Amino acid sequence: MQRRLVIVGGDAAGMSAAAQARRSSKPETLEIVAFERGTHTSYAACGLPYLVGGFVTAADKLVARSPEEHRARGIDVRTRHEVIAIDPGASTVTVRDLDGGVERSERWDALLIATGAEGVMPRWPGVDAAGVFQLRTLDHAAMVEARIAAGARRGVVVGAGYIGIEVAEGLLARGLSVTVVERLDAPMGTVLDADMSGAIAESMRAAGVDLRLGVSVEGFEADGGEVCAVRTGAGTIPADLVIVGLGVRPNVAVARTAGIRIGDAGGIVVDERLRTSLPNVWAAGDCVESRHRISGASVVVALGTHANKQGRAAGTVIAGGEASFPGVLGTAITRFRDLEIARTGLGEREAAAAGFAAYATLTEASSRAHYFPGAQSMRIKLVAERGSGRLLGAQIVGGAGSGKRIDVLATALWNRMTVQEIGEMDLSYAPPFSPVWDPVLLAAGRAAASR
Ligand SMILES: Cc1cc2nc3c(=O)[nH]c(=O)nc-3n(C[C@H](O)[C@H](O)[C@H](O)COP(=O)(O)OP(=O)(O)OC[C@H]3O[C@@H](n4cnc5c(N)ncnc54)[C@H](O)[C@@H]3O)c2cc1C
Repeated sequence: MQRRLVIVGGDAAGMSAAAQARRSSKPETLEIVAFERGTHTSYAACGLPYLVGGFVTAADKLVARSPEEHRARGIDVRTRHEVIAIDPGASTVTVRDLDGGVERSERWDALLIATGAEGVMPRWPGVDAAGVFQLRTLDHAAMVEARIAAGARRGVVVGAGYIGIEVAEGLLARGLSVTVVERLDAPMGTVLDADMSGAIAESMRAAGVDLRLGVSVEGFEADGGEVCAVRTGAGTIPADLVIVGLGVRPNVAVARTAGIRIGDAGGIVVDERLRTSLPNVWAAGDCVESRHRISGASVVVALGTHANKQGRAAGTVIAGGEASFPGVLGTAITRFRDLEIARTGLGEREAAAAGFAAYATLTEASSRAHYFPGAQSMRIKLVAERGSGRLLGAQIVGGAGSGKRIDVLATALWNRMTVQEIGEMDLSYAPPFSPVWDPVLLAAGRAAASR
């Protein structure tokens, strides 16, 4: 008998699940239908700041698989179709065709909710002025592009988190003057400890960004409907183009219509096999809460890495296989021009809040042997448990070659290693790649000595 899998949301989590379910089961046994309200499927939102910045030269390079390609692989994708309600009793969804305006009921045997997240966008006065954007989809990127092509010269970025600093780099690269307005006292203040963000602020200012820290946006001014300034608590900033990057919250609107359990962090509650509180309904990606492997808390960490893995696991399970999603560390990396910024696990404040007797060490190190051309400095912060020396988290800020070292520390963290054990690991060395004592070993040695 043929079962019918319906997927709500056609990007990272939804289409990973669809592809995995298709690989695991024949079309005769499983029909797969994905509804996506937007115009694209399987696109790399992560590449959007680099598209805006001109580092990626064409939007279609960010599309991994078009709806036609999915259909050719046996996945019935319907773009511009929004799921507006789920009826778990009848095992149906109500779908609105956004072009035709028609609403239909579609039956499912298995349902996957992969509706992602929505950007935080306060209802500031003037927020609807033309030229005020978020950057979450290819359509948004096209609108930003059109604005630049129409002559925008003064860009204001609201928020100095991951997206804010990536967009600031991009707008600078396009020749705009760039102001970044951030309510906190440091860039990346929600993801890095304060003693790690100084170099980011320095680097942004050195590149020409007018970085305004500790400043809150109050609204926008428009001229003939077009944004012309950003009003803040510390004065008005002229603007032709504004990009708001204030973080995201899980998009659980459709899940709520079915009475699916939503957790304290605001995401859909799922177990390790991505099952929701309703039978035959799964969820994956930015819309769900995950277990933090260090704090044990249910958290929303909206990252493409998790969305793809969760989607794949959900697809396997729905097709009758064995898979699970084992939780997150929140490992993430970004850059501002040449400065690489990475983190994993808990920061110092987070570790204390989670109840650990935590301590932290800072280590300055070089990316290569000091005599080798191109050696770059980096700062590594390790957070560990006092006494046992168990690693709880790590942050790295530094020049080329520093950021991906976070993956060694994430691996150690995943495996519950102590800083003593990390300091003894057999890591590679040759002068173009590291000093004899790799920065990770140096940092771990320092943390071990301080425990
Ligand atoms: C600018 C930017 C840069 C990023 N950079 C990185 C990075 O460097 N590294 C990283 O790991 N992550 C990054 N991310 C995050 C990453 O893109 C997301 O974590 C990932 O896309 C989440 O996948 P998802 O499938 O859960 O959600 P989404 O990609 O948001 O997809 C959800 C889809 O569901 C659709 N949808 C929602 N509701 C409905 C409905 N009712 N009916 C039909 N369709 C619906 C939406 O239109 C959307 O296409 C970035 C995100 C952005 C925006």
